[in-house]
Amino acid sequence: MGIEEAAPSGFLLTTLEKAVGLTRKASMWPVTFGLACCAIEMMAAGTPRFDLSRFGMEVFRASPRQADLMIVAGRVSQKMAPVVRQVYDQMAAPKWVLSMGVCASSGGMFNNYAIVQGVDHIVPVDIYLPGCPPRPEMLLNAILTLHEQVRNEPLGVNREAAARAAEEAALRA
Ligand code: SF4
Repeated sequence: MGIEEAAPSGFLLTTLEKAVGLTRKASMWPVTFGLACCAIEMMAAGTPRFDLSRFGMEVFRASPRQADLMIVAGRVSQKMAPVVRQVYDQMAAPKWVLSMGVCASSGGMFNNYAIVQGVDHIVPVDIYLPGCPPRPEMLLNAILTLHEQVRNEPLGVNREAAARAAEEAALRA
């Protein structure tokens, strides 16, 4: 339904929570960040053919302080793990993490000492995207699914505190 049909009088009432959810999901900026072959598909998603900019997301930020989405595109080596965490810590809150591809999500075929067996050992993950590599259309689909998640997130929830509590609980287990 178009805005004209929804609000023929020109007035539209909503809640602050819905308005914030809508703006957050419509202006998500990913941090410039690629780890392996999956990153090539992520870059392709930003090209005119797939046109990530349709969803307000063409601005990949070089500074994590200006970004609120981390797309972990590729396997995470043990050596890169502290860097990934540092980039995450430097991002502005609220922030979200998309694990792209089987390697980022679980280590994939790299079941060895050099590769972290899932980036969720390092940062909290909001959405997992399977595939090796996932195609740009699949990444767009995951991003749109994340957008819906973000749009419906309640206001006032401290996501970082909840993620920290979950991390501590996992460490205790
Ligand atoms: Fe490369 Fe496949 Fe791993 Fe992606 S999932 S980083 S394409 S090996």
